[in-house]
Formats: sequence, C-alpha cells, structure tokens
Amino acid sequence: MTLAFGACTDPGDRPRNEDAHLAVEPLFLVADGMGGHEDGVLASACVVDAFRPLLARTSVTADEVREAISAASAAVHRLVSGDRSPGSTLAGVAVTEQDGRACWLVFNIGDSRVYRLGANDQLEQISVDHSHVQELVDAGELTARGAKEHVQRNVITRALGAGMPGAPEPDQWLLRIEPGDRMLVCSDGLTGEVTDQLIAATLLSTADPEQAAADLVQAAVDAGGRDNVTAIVVDAVDVAGSVPVSDSETREITLDRLPPVDLDARTRPARRSSLAEGNR
Ligand code: MG
Repeated sequence: MTLAFGACTDPGDRPRNEDAHLAVEPLFLVADGMGGHEDGVLASACVVDAFRPLLARTSVTADEVREAISAASAAVHRLVSGDRSPGSTLAGVAVTEQDGRACWLVFNIGDSRVYRLGANDQLEQISVDHSHVQELVDAGELTARGAKEHVQRNVITRALGAGMPGAPEPDQWLLRIEPGDRMLVCSDGLTGEVTDQLIAATLLSTADPEQAAADLVQAAVDAGGRDNVTAIVVDAVDVAGSVPVSDSETREITLDRLPPVDLDARTRPARRSSLAEGNR
C-alpha cells in the first residue's frame, strides 16, 4: 500500500485560520473551528490532536476513529467557558482493512467534505453535509447551486461542541481502495468558493498531490477567499501489497467497484434539530 499526499491551507480574508488539518498516514483530517476570539483555533486543534495516538500505523479501525471522535468531543467541551461555546467540524479519510482488503474509511461531522476522484475520472462527493441548506436540498426546496449563496449556508446541524450536547455521531462510509483513487478532504472555504467542476478539473490536471492541494486553495482564494480554506489530496499510488493476488480475485477487485457502504446504519442518529450558527 503506497500513498502520496499533500496538504495546503490559507486563512483567506480572515484574521485567523481556524481550520486545522492532519495529513499523516493512515489519517487525513480537516477540522473547521468556530467561535469568537481564539476559540475556533483551539477547538479545531483539539479535534485534530485527539487523533494523534492513531498515527504511524498502517491502518485504523472504525471503532478507533469513533473513540478518537469521542475524545475530541470531550476536549472541545472542556473549552466551554461562560457564554463561549467553541466548536468544530470534522471530515476525514483513514486507511482501514475489511476482510483483508485495504479500504478508505470516510467520516464527517458538519459541512467539511470528502470527495473521491475514481479511476473513471468522475468526482464523487462521498460525505453528506450536516447543514441547514443540505436539509433543504434533500427536501427538494433548494438546488446545490442555490445552497452556495443561501443566507443560512453557514448553519450546520451537527458539530463537535458549538453548544450541541454530548458527543456527535459521525456518518461513516467504507470504500474499497482502487489503484489510482484520489481522495480530497476539504473545509467549506473551498467548496463555498469554487464549483465541483473546477475541483474535478484541478484534480485531473495536476498530478502532484501537494501541488493539487495548493492549486485548489489558490483557486478558492482567487474566487474571493471569504473563509479559511484547507485541502488535503491523497493518492492511492499502489495497493498491490494489500489485496489478494490471484487472477480471479484481482479481476473481481478491478471490476466490482463497491458502492459506498454505511458501516453501521443502526447507530446513525436522526437529524438533530439544534443548529450551530456559522463555522466560517
Ligand atoms: Mg469554514
């Protein structure tokens, strides 16, 4: 299993960069902090730090990711003071194993996102935002294009902290890693400024993952840069060491692209009615 990856972040026109990220095998995370003063910076840093015990390994399990999210949530809640309720989103992709095969474990809380550019060169948004505008899109009351400019586009419905009680449940997906897969983890500072078409074109035209991440961030800054923007690009360069080697099984892996699998639908919570204002 060989990965290549790169990351880039920029404060945009904001005085502080409240985004935090981690790009160390086997974990690639973006956290978008919110709250006044330094609170957003502290919250997103707490979230990322909770995952550090899982670094320097070849893979992690879905349970380990859940435990790290619980620890992150507890750490963010410890920042609460008086009427200050810092918070953070989280989106990530981790390398995991399922039945001896290397898989992407994708997870999110809030409106930071994970995309996959697959071997068919199609860009697919894997994560689903926990946001007010996503609920309107789901209900058929708003188009994805309209969501970008909606007055409540910054209202998220799930977060770590931000006045929401308890530890939030992440949504999780399991995707078999295909050679040539290119994953993108990003904050809404990217997706709020540029279209999915521009993201796809950039990912297709720039081979080096670090340069691709830098080009994406620059595109968001050039488009207005109204928010902190962070992008991590992860390439599956070689998965030969992690998959069965017999001809039949190799063929099966090549031809049978697994659809996104919800790891544990039973534990997914109903949509929360509480809203957190403004993670940008
Ligand atoms: Mg943001």
